[in-house]
Amino acid sequence: MSAVSLPVVTPDSVLELLDSVTDPEIPSLSIRDLGIVRSVHVDTLGKDTHVVVTISPTYSGCPASRVIEADIREAIERAGIGNVSVKHQLNPPWTTDWITESGKQHLREAGIAPPACWASDPAANDAEIECPHCGSCNTRVLAGFGSTPCKALWHCTDCFEPFDYFKPH
Ligand SMILES: [Zn+2]
Repeated sequence: MSAVSLPVVTPDSVLELLDSVTDPEIPSLSIRDLGIVRSVHVDTLGKDTHVVVTISPTYSGCPASRVIEADIREAIERAGIGNVSVKHQLNPPWTTDWITESGKQHLREAGIAPPACWASDPAANDAEIECPHCGSCNTRVLAGFGSTPCKALWHCTDCFEPFDYFKPH
């Protein structure tokens, strides 16, 4: 270790680093937009800085969780902070309600219809699904599961394009 003095590490500066960490399945969607970052703690003891990032995994057993965890470590270690822990918080469980507005926009740009309603809303199944390609609501479901279990395959009857729908969950 050299005597390079690093900028002061704060939770905000760590959160900025996490903006570069994206969902392996949707590369335009950052994990902050996905809403899985619960908290960042920075402990400084003498010259040592220890960062603890707490995330809520999206789907238990989803292989993406391991990739995301490795990417978080890498993003923080690349900034010269070698002491990183990633903790999982399972309660309350992650829900699509935590996807941010900019996250929903990134989903549309990736050709994926974002959840059309709150997962906590009992009328979820009656929501109109908007085609991410043309904005039409003349859409119908083709299959309950799309490219991944968290998505359904839909079809637009106006522009004839199929698309993935990120199911409220
Ligand atoms: Zn369409």
